[in-house]
Amino acid sequence: MDLTGKTAIITAGASGIGRVTAERFTELGASVCLCDVADGALADVEKALPDALVLKADVSNSGDVANLYDAFSARFGRLDILVNNAGISGPTKHVEDVTDEEWDETMAVNVTGQFYMVRKAVPLFRQAGGGCIVNLSSVAGRVGMPMRAPYSTSKYAVRGLTDVLAVELGEINVRVNAILPGLVDGPRGQRVMSEQAAARGMSLEEFMPFFLHNISMHAMVSMREIADMAAFLASDMGRHISGQSISVCGNFETY
Ligand code: NAD
Repeated sequence: MDLTGKTAIITAGASGIGRVTAERFTELGASVCLCDVADGALADVEKALPDALVLKADVSNSGDVANLYDAFSARFGRLDILVNNAGISGPTKHVEDVTDEEWDETMAVNVTGQFYMVRKAVPLFRQAGGGCIVNLSSVAGRVGMPMRAPYSTSKYAVRGLTDVLAVELGEINVRVNAILPGLVDGPRGQRVMSEQAAARGMSLEEFMPFFLHNISMHAMVSMREIADMAAFLASDMGRHISGQSISVCGNFETY
């Protein structure tokens, strides 16, 4: 895979999957702009990736997104790749207990944030003669995840947005795909599993074998595997792939 000469914006790139993707894209030759809301993690990634443009921006705030694109355009001019990675896990609770605020915040970051990022990317892609968008969904956007109604619904919406954009933006040579990670080995995966176990009245030790049994490959996936799929889709190797929702999950069947 080669991303030499390409420019990429990666949202929520200061930690987790976004950071690993920013590192991988840099290794493969891309010039990277990343944003996040966490000050400490931003300072850390700025040191680790000195050539990257590191910005503080909340994707659910359209003013922040406009400022991000202004700073991006001033530095790079041309946009080739947008990785819409930012997404919060939302509450783990029965749907009847979900508050208005919890529902709205999950939709704002996970769905509206992707829309804000895409809307501003389109003129840059048009100018560049094409481009590529990778939206982070989840297997929870393919298999309904109990006790996580806001999150699961938002990740189904990401797949809907992906399908619509693939058709609409195909006209300007923009490819749009979604990645559906399964259980990812990292801090967030661990936290979500602990919450799922607690919601079922089980300990994490009891819950994990039960959960992994429903994955054909009986294992978590790594952040690097998600970053590699994003790089493959963004590279010329993926030049005829658009409108696809690709699960990287070891074949996850049910919750
Ligand atoms: P994470 O929880 O580790 O968070 C990564 C970063 O997102 C953090 O640095 C945080 O500050 C930033 N962030 C939060 N809200 C933001 C906002 N409004 N604007 C900008 N940045 C924001 O996440 P992760 O596990 O790396 O997940 C990345 C993506 O992959 C998400 O969309 C997530 O839903 C999806 N995903 C993750 C898993 C998993 O097991 N980790 C599984 C399926 C899908």
